[in-house]
Amino acid sequence: MKRYDVIIVGSGSAASQAATILRDAGKEIAIIENWTFGGTCPQRGCDPKKMLAEGAELLARTERMRELGVEGSLSLDWQAFKKRIDEYRFSIPTSKTQHWNEMNIDLYQGEPHFIDEDSIVIEGHELSAPQFLIATGQTPRPLDIPGGDQAITSDDVFDLDALPESIHIVGAGYIAFEFAHIFRRFGSDVTLLIRSQALKAFDPNVVHRLVEESKRIGISVRYDVEPTRIDGNVLTLSDDSTLEGVVLNATGRIPSVERLHLDAAGVKSDRQGIHVNEYLQTSNPAVYAAGDVAYSPNPALTPFAGQEGRLAALNMLHGNTRVLPERPAPTIVYATPPIAKVGLTVEEAEAEGIDFDVKETDMSHFLTYSRINDATAYSKVLLSEEGHVIGAHLIGHHAPELINLFSFIIQNKLSHQHVKHLEVAYPTAASDLTYLI
Ligand SMILES: Cc1cc2nc3c(=O)[nH]c(=O)nc-3n(C[C@H](O)[C@H](O)[C@H](O)COP(=O)(O)OP(=O)(O)OC[C@H]3O[C@@H](n4cnc5c(N)ncnc54)[C@H](O)[C@@H]3O)c2cc1C
Repeated sequence: MKRYDVIIVGSGSAASQAATILRDAGKEIAIIENWTFGGTCPQRGCDPKKMLAEGAELLARTERMRELGVEGSLSLDWQAFKKRIDEYRFSIPTSKTQHWNEMNIDLYQGEPHFIDEDSIVIEGHELSAPQFLIATGQTPRPLDIPGGDQAITSDDVFDLDALPESIHIVGAGYIAFEFAHIFRRFGSDVTLLIRSQALKAFDPNVVHRLVEESKRIGISVRYDVEPTRIDGNVLTLSDDSTLEGVVLNATGRIPSVERLHLDAAGVKSDRQGIHVNEYLQTSNPAVYAAGDVAYSPNPALTPFAGQEGRLAALNMLHGNTRVLPERPAPTIVYATPPIAKVGLTVEEAEAEGIDFDVKETDMSHFLTYSRINDATAYSKVLLSEEGHVIGAHLIGHHAPELINLFSFIIQNKLSHQHVKHLEVAYPTAASDLTYLI
């Protein structure tokens, strides 16, 4: 049996951040991965998705500018994008393993399971440690209809050698909307099958604008039917009609804990993830969990996975000295146009009993947006009684960068007065900030 100071299960953003801190502190560590080293974000998530979304956004922007004099045709070549994405994503495991080898971290690849509170078995090797970090992330939720396993998931999108002629996307979250817009802009016929509410966590006015824009660019958005079965490339719907094409299951993600035998380690989990306290410690005090797999107040996004990995590592090293900070979580849907939010929604502020004002602005008349013909641009900002921004909700071409400024404004409890005195460059989207607050 090989003994370590800490064994980390998973090798994504949370694991990576924790490994650096633990190794720098002189701990002997092992990382176990059951797929390819490097995690979801760079191989099957944020990064390859954003490469496709850049193409989609460029096409959208060009189309908007046609009325303003842009001429000529533009098209997106799926294979060429895929080639570049493959170069990038397939380089990740090599660069990660090289980096960790140089740090003298032992790497194991295969399917691990706990056999008791301080031992794990991986491909016939028994490893033990006084402390563990579980950072196994999430995996697509299976589509629970006959033939549901014939649907592809976001994991498979980047393996598609050719652009599907038609793609039917089941789901209403950010992954569903992002891929709907990506595939539509690349040239597929796209259906978006939404069971109840689209993008539940976002502001309804912002979502309404995005849904209308989705329809305008030719995405068939359907709330009236549900998928009932898949036979090959035929999807049957609840009204007995059928659609032909690829089916993308984007119905959500569930914690990756299935084969870990967490019971053997005394670690409790449920459909939401591994139960953790504010120090990211599980029901077994020697086992911590971080990132998407941990059921914490943070959203399942890369920056929070990294932050949790760092926090768990520091608590493992120094005793439970740090709790999860309460920070606003900027969140973006990279559709065309993108939408973004940070801080509280109206619903959340009401539920918390906060007194607040709402400032809504149709930004499409601002020169920032009229010069790029962005008719969707809109903002809704929530202001506390003291005049501090407590929530911001945006749609429009500049939403992703603007939301980071709002995040800064919320974190630093800035008011209209403060923002008025910020020196920002003109003409930029940031120079409109004082009109939005
Ligand atoms: C399509 C898509 C788009 C996304 N876009 C964004 C975005 O734009 N911005 C953003 O911030 N976030 C985005 N995310 C979310 C982001 O990828 C995750 O929040 C982040 O990767 C979580 O990091 P993690 O370390 O918790 O888990 P992961 O990065 O998922 O790493 C977990 C690792 O553990 C491995 N593993 C799983 N089970 C086991 C096991 N039993 N044994 C050993 N290893 C195991 C996995 O193979 C994986 O390598 C996106 C996700 C997807 C799927």
